[in-house]
Amino acid sequence: MMTYSHQHCDGSVIALPVGKVVCIGQNYQDHIAEMQSKTAAEPLFFIKPSTALCPLVPSFAIPANRGAVHNELEIAVLIAKPLSQASTEQVAAAIWGYSLALDLTLRDVQSSLKQLGRPWELAKGFDGACPVAGFVPAATLAHPQQLDFSLNVNGIERQHGNSATMIRGISQLISEMSQHFTLLPGDMVLTGTPAGVGPLHIGDQLQIQMADYFTVTTKVS
Ligand code: ZN
Repeated sequence: MMTYSHQHCDGSVIALPVGKVVCIGQNYQDHIAEMQSKTAAEPLFFIKPSTALCPLVPSFAIPANRGAVHNELEIAVLIAKPLSQASTEQVAAAIWGYSLALDLTLRDVQSSLKQLGRPWELAKGFDGACPVAGFVPAATLAHPQQLDFSLNVNGIERQHGNSATMIRGISQLISEMSQHFTLLPGDMVLTGTPAGVGPLHIGDQLQIQMADYFTVTTKVS
């Protein structure tokens, strides 16, 4: 298995442990529409284990023979301080930085699980289910709630989002997560995917951009 540690976008290792990944489903209206999902007032939170984390570059692997594997490009937030029942102010003070990650999803498996009323771990928590890029320190990212990001697959734009269109803003959703799950230093939060999810295939070339902060290229292996 690929070893993983959180990295600064300059390539240096961040001195934080590798923890769980707390995620939100249905945080962008355009993705809810494309999935024809039912929504509720209560947020849809789920967790990927630390073993789902892997480096996004120079390549990442997808499971074979488990049906469609979909890209969900999401803003990732690295937590540096414990957060339990935290206010949005406490959340803001606990963020190490921001990056982009893929919430890889076995879509056919997830559809079967949904039909059976079962939880999503098999579809979202497998080894390597969360490739992540290096983090931009919070102090150098002026407006995280106005952050543009995009995914090109084989030269064609597939996803283009901006955090300004989130249903729950970043501090708000992390505050809500911390009412249920204590976040520890080294944990990561995924903030939901905009529209444009679709199948990835071995050999696909991906270009992933976070505004003017970074652009990385990677490959599905
Ligand atoms: Zn997602």
